[in-house]
Amino acid sequence: MSYDDIRARIAAAESAAGRPAGAVELIAVSKLQPESRVADVLEAGHRLFGENRVQEAAGKWPDFRAQFEGVAVHLLGPLQTNKARQALELFEAIHSLDRPKLAGTLARLAQETGRCPDLFVQVNTGEEPQKAGILPGEADGFIAECRGMDLPVRGLMCIPPVDEEPALHFALLAKIAARNGLEGLSMGMSGDFERAIAQGATHVRVGSAIFGARPS
Ligand SMILES: *Cc1c(COP(=O)(O)O)cnc(C)c1O
Repeated sequence: MSYDDIRARIAAAESAAGRPAGAVELIAVSKLQPESRVADVLEAGHRLFGENRVQEAAGKWPDFRAQFEGVAVHLLGPLQTNKARQALELFEAIHSLDRPKLAGTLARLAQETGRCPDLFVQVNTGEEPQKAGILPGEADGFIAECRGMDLPVRGLMCIPPVDEEPALHFALLAKIAARNGLEGLSMGMSGDFERAIAQGATHVRVGSAIFGARPS
């Protein structure tokens, strides 16, 4: 696998789904990857990346941003409220808005600073107790609550259970987004991004299929 292969597979999946070329944004998930591998993908011209942790992103991306024009970094992992201010400065989007307390903190900071990254509400489509995210039955209410706080909610994000067919979860996420008038669908990873594109993903989050296995 490589960056070029993944781009080609995304283009093929867009076409197979009858969607326009370029309908899907590729977020290259660079968490825990050696900087040389990330630099290779930047050199290839890619500019949109995903990270899981505020601290790791803060250590890596200021230098890359200084070297490469037009970089955007999205936060994909859980966000503690005490790191929200830093996250507001570091990321163009946050895909892990998963609870009312975080929404309140982001709204307060957005008021104070006059800016806020694009937000995706994370939905726990599999209703897994150990997983972050708003339960499907509570999503409409939570989205309304966020909108009431003037938060820029652009879409929804999910991470399906490992042992279930992801397409069912992608379809559920798409349904919740549609009835709430949300366009963004952050879904699909290395093993299932083509199925996510078939279900309407606007953002796929692909790590190991681009960069290779993450060092442990
Ligand atoms: C790590 C991670 C990814 C990428 O996973 P791969 O299987 O390496 O493609 C995508 N989304 C989230 C939220 C992640 O934590």
